[in-house]
Amino acid sequence: MAHFRLKALEEVLNRKPEPFVREDNLVSNYYGRLVFDRPKMKKYLSKEAFNAVMDAIENGTTIDRKMADQIAQGMKSWALENGATHYTHWFQPLTDGTAEKHDAFIIHNDHGVIEAFSGKLLAQQEPDASSFPSGGIRQTFEARGYTAWDPSSPAFISETTLTIPTIFISFTGEALDYKTPLLRALSAVDKAATAVCQYFDKNVTSVQANLGWEQEYFLIDEALYMARPDLVLTGRTLMGHSSSKDQQLDDHYFSSIPTRVNRFMQDVENEAYKLGIPVKTRHNEVAPNQFELAPIFEEANLANDHNQLIMDIMQKIARRHKFRILYHEKPFAGINGSGKHNNWSLSTNTGVNLYSPGKNPKSNILFLTFVINTLKAVYDHQNLLRASIYHAGNQRRLGANEAPPSIISVFLGTEVTKMLDLMEESVTDRKMTPDEKTALKLNIGRIPEIILDSTDRNRTSPFAFTGNRFEFRAVGSSANCASALIALNAVMANQLIDFKEKVDQLIDKGTKKDEAIFQILKQLIIDSKPVCFNGDGYSDNWIKEAKKRGLSNVNNVPEALSAYLRPETIKLFEKLEILDQQELHGRVEVEYEKFIMKIQIEARVLGDLAINHIVPTAVQYQTTLLQNVKYMKEVFSAEEFEQLAGARMDLIREIGKHISSIKAKSKQMVDARKKANVIPGAIEKAKAYDQTVRPFLQDIRYHIDKLELIVDNELWPLPKYRELLFVR
Ligand code: ADP
Ligand code: MG
Repeated sequence: MAHFRLKALEEVLNRKPEPFVREDNLVSNYYGRLVFDRPKMKKYLSKEAFNAVMDAIENGTTIDRKMADQIAQGMKSWALENGATHYTHWFQPLTDGTAEKHDAFIIHNDHGVIEAFSGKLLAQQEPDASSFPSGGIRQTFEARGYTAWDPSSPAFISETTLTIPTIFISFTGEALDYKTPLLRALSAVDKAATAVCQYFDKNVTSVQANLGWEQEYFLIDEALYMARPDLVLTGRTLMGHSSSKDQQLDDHYFSSIPTRVNRFMQDVENEAYKLGIPVKTRHNEVAPNQFELAPIFEEANLANDHNQLIMDIMQKIARRHKFRILYHEKPFAGINGSGKHNNWSLSTNTGVNLYSPGKNPKSNILFLTFVINTLKAVYDHQNLLRASIYHAGNQRRLGANEAPPSIISVFLGTEVTKMLDLMEESVTDRKMTPDEKTALKLNIGRIPEIILDSTDRNRTSPFAFTGNRFEFRAVGSSANCASALIALNAVMANQLIDFKEKVDQLIDKGTKKDEAIFQILKQLIIDSKPVCFNGDGYSDNWIKEAKKRGLSNVNNVPEALSAYLRPETIKLFEKLEILDQQELHGRVEVEYEKFIMKIQIEARVLGDLAINHIVPTAVQYQTTLLQNVKYMKEVFSAEEFEQLAGARMDLIREIGKHISSIKAKSKQMVDARKKANVIPGAIEKAKAYDQTVRPFLQDIRYHIDKLELIVDNELWPLPKYRELLFVR
């Protein structure tokens, strides 16, 4: 085994950067080449068919079968010209990642075969879906699931397959994926936000949510990765003593990108550009061998599809460069984990970003309306937002030193905070004079220059205002962003509906519109005060302070997830027609199952490695020491032996103790699992796994890591942290 590790190291030392050829010197020459985008639709579709797709994208109208046939023909012609032989419906089941099943275009005819495609095949498919999780929604006798075309996300060619983004629903219409409720949530926020915008501008007829994700990841050399069964099977290291040097010197963040990695990045970008994914920024992250990729933001549904797609592409391209990519939130203990900040905003069909501080009084009140309603939404539904980002991997990152704590708070920055304070004060005691109002409004007009100063940033906040958007920073790197976006857009839609109702009530009673808006906003500021926090989210003081403010602090998955089943959450999702009670229950069930499975797998892998790899290695080294002592006894006089062998004997005993502990705890861990496995009900079982199985992972690891420091380096079977993180 040990040879496996040393061989792997040798392999890495002989690596050369892989050659890579860009599609064209100018990215603009080939951007979107493999996407059936608007220009291509224009070319390959009749005017009528083109308008039908546009109408579906912009107004959500249904495309009838005849029209779908026409669109399918155009799509097929384009796909065949670009080398496609197959087509697939591409969807996002509740497991991690995406799913696809390819079918060839060919069908038989009198002369042999021809390529065929139809509106029916484009619009709907019935994959054999019985093995995708549904959380008990589908009984096996009605295990059918359907995928249905999402025209708002353009089809593309992946390798030789025309890939059609779709939703995935059950035979009885329940959502079995991430995209369905995301589309519903986006539509809810569109409606609610448009209605509010109409107070200010009648030309606003739709509002879209935007997403700019920042994908963090680790790259590990393939040979070293393969020598770490824990990485292969669980995505994280279950053992490993920390390297003497890791990120203390902050010498990795933004430092020069190693050539092998740079080639990988270029290769990824090249593929991304062909697929119309506007990737923009690449850099080294804080931890050694950690990197980040971020695109220009896009409409949220499309941006999320692009994130799912690029995660897949990066995995494939990493292999081409003899790397493996880690999306796990905490692959290495003791150093930074990976997140996926979700930069989120709302913008109107008239081109206004609702989170951009305006240049005139009217647009400033519009801006404040959206910021303040966001505050209230986050405050009221902090538990739901937390649930949307909590899972086994992220649990390890959150609350650790590099990521926001498990308390959901909002960072606004000094300038916006000042505005809100002013607004609150001026209306609390008396009515503002028109002059004061103007002053306030003008004051707000100065925000852009100040807030965009990057010093006014808070990296410790889970939800931060960053000048023209909110950044939901607590999202995990392996997550499907939809989970967070469903919750975020839902709570925002809900809040905006509530806001409008209240304002309308005042208007009905005779209050002027501006005054009514002002009064309600003031109340919202007062109500959501506790969630605003500009200080250090990592400090112990904040934990105490948050408790005083009545904010919740939950740091384990089973409890966090239970927020999905609170009456107010069910009510919210049902009212907005995003998910009904049964769908919610199903999804939460799936989440609990995933959590249980992940701990179960980790426990098994650690148990195996401890007993098959670590204990034998430790025994082998112990035997060498024992032999050494035996020879010493033969060679030296009794007196000299006493003097010389003492330290070795201690070492032998220490190794013995660690071995015994590992064996005993491994057995106890198996027993804990057996006990947990028979607990009925996913929630209780998840709790048992969290509280009775999970602690053993830490316990056993402690002894293994101690052994790593003692046992002869030549014998140690698994690549060490310093090798995984610094050999490149
Ligand atoms: P950071 O300093 O946080 O790393 P970046 O400049 O890398 O910021 O941007 C992060 C992401 O935020 C990018 O994807 C960017 O396109 C996105 N972004 C910028 N403005 C908006 C906005 N108004 N709405 C949504 N996302 C945005
Ligand atoms: Mg950011």
